[in-house]
Amino acid sequence: MAATHTSENRTVLTFLAHPDDAEILCAGTLVRLKDAGWTIHIATATAGDCGTMTENRWDISSIRTKEATAAAKLIGATYHCLGEGDGLVVYDKATIQKAVDLFRRVAPGLVFTHAPKDYMLDHEQVSLLARSASFLYGAPNISLHPILPRSRVPYLYYCDPVEGLDPLGHEVEPTTTIDITAQLETKSRMLACHASQREWLRAHHGMDEYIDAMMRHAAMRGKLIGTSAAESFVQHRGHAYPNDDVLATLFS
Ligand SMILES: [Zn+2]
Repeated sequence: MAATHTSENRTVLTFLAHPDDAEILCAGTLVRLKDAGWTIHIATATAGDCGTMTENRWDISSIRTKEATAAAKLIGATYHCLGEGDGLVVYDKATIQKAVDLFRRVAPGLVFTHAPKDYMLDHEQVSLLARSASFLYGAPNISLHPILPRSRVPYLYYCDPVEGLDPLGHEVEPTTTIDITAQLETKSRMLACHASQREWLRAHHGMDEYIDAMMRHAAMRGKLIGTSAAESFVQHRGHAYPNDDVLATLFS
């Protein structure tokens, strides 16, 4: 039953495409989960090897892995990377297996991933991988890694697409919005660990407001619930997934 599910398994996994996605999309909620006693894992499909105008892919991957690890460390989280390439993330047999093996080792009771429709296809492919891995990881024969007793289909939430818009420009309607007013400062410090990206976004996107853009989005979501900052999610409620809104239960 869903009600006992959470009390048995207080491990959360964010599985997103790139280093800094977790900090932008759901880190405030991760801080709240950490404060509530949860174990936090932050995983990315890539090490961000194309997030640069100046470094080679090996150097920037090393830099960004260190940045992501430092950000995770601020909330005592463990960072994982599947080692895929930026722009090359695909939903195929080999990558599904890597994702399933990650889920098998972490055995999460709660998962955050990208919106099914988002501005970049890496995000959409990771969303599919997370959906597949979350559904499968508790099946004994799907992985050679040992199966932990808490393994079962977890709560699954989709983070906002970038700017809260799908690729056709339609606004996503959240099912769940979490107040992160008290966590915004830590979320900002986590994002600031990704120093290389402030420069990369300035050069490639013409954005000079790496952290301010995150702040503006948090403020926009805060308006939905009458607070100064929030993060929004859409809960996956398909067959076999626990469909009670555990985040709302925990934090409202
Ligand atoms: Zn991304």
